[in-house]
Amino acid sequence: MRKSLAFLPVLAALVAGPAQGVDIHGHRGARGLLPENTLPAFREAIALGVDILELDTGVTADGVVVVMHDPSLSPDLARIGGKWIDTPTAIHAMTHAEIHEVDVGRARPGGKTAKRFPDQLAIDGTPVPTLAEVLSLAAVKGPPTLRFNIETKLSPLAPDETVAPEVFAAAVVAVVRDAGVARRTIIQSFDWRTLAAVKKLEPEIRTSYLTATRNWLNNVEAGRSGASPWLGGLDIDDFGGSVPRAIAYLHGDIWSPYHRDLTPEALAEAHKLGLEVHVWTVNDPTQIRDLAAMGVDGIITDYPNVAIEVLRH
Ligand code: MG
Repeated sequence: MRKSLAFLPVLAALVAGPAQGVDIHGHRGARGLLPENTLPAFREAIALGVDILELDTGVTADGVVVVMHDPSLSPDLARIGGKWIDTPTAIHAMTHAEIHEVDVGRARPGGKTAKRFPDQLAIDGTPVPTLAEVLSLAAVKGPPTLRFNIETKLSPLAPDETVAPEVFAAAVVAVVRDAGVARRTIIQSFDWRTLAAVKKLEPEIRTSYLTATRNWLNNVEAGRSGASPWLGGLDIDDFGGSVPRAIAYLHGDIWSPYHRDLTPEALAEAHKLGLEVHVWTVNDPTQIRDLAAMGVDGIITDYPNVAIEVLRH
């Protein structure tokens, strides 16, 4: 009896497959299903059973951390007084009271988001939430193991668009601390300057280094002379072009590459250096399965329902 029982954990591991340990992040809540970065989307992601809520942040003129993807209101998503906005206004130039009047409960009909996510349900009258509101919702609705992957949205190429990196990091860290969730929080950014600031302020918060090496975004800039403005003063060529080596040098915790940029060799190198690798944004069930089989540690998806179906059933 004892002998046969000893095999149970092995059997369980075989049945579950390698995907068992993959963290599923609900991207902007559950963008494929509900309006991005809203309380209904986060509520849905929690109900589906994600491991991690992924969300984006900005800081208002009066220092409130709000949850929104772009540094400015998007004409594709934002209505004020029932009317679609025409021109983007920077969050940085608006007060929280003004932002709270913005309805982001529906993608503009015929717009980019509506076309990309045709099944996304609209909930008119949904305001832009604050980070504190999302963390409060999670405290009530989420399991005590729920984690948060909070992105600082700023660009070294557009310093006037947002608050400065240190101010941004301090604002986000203060909200996370107030909610008592530092140990369950990751802060991620393409702009690595904010991650350096987070590490100084709150070592309990894990840091995740976002990268893309695409024609639509390349924050790594391998092979170009000098430091990339995105990497907080580092020149990736000093690390033989290796992003994992640069992150390990910075004592970071996680590498978060665009999923098509990741090779098995780079994944192995990251793991060898003690880093986790969480890829974005993967919505195709076959790609989700393949990346899990490759051995990634986390998958950021607009369709957590699909990822859960593929990886947990
Ligand atoms: Mg994000």
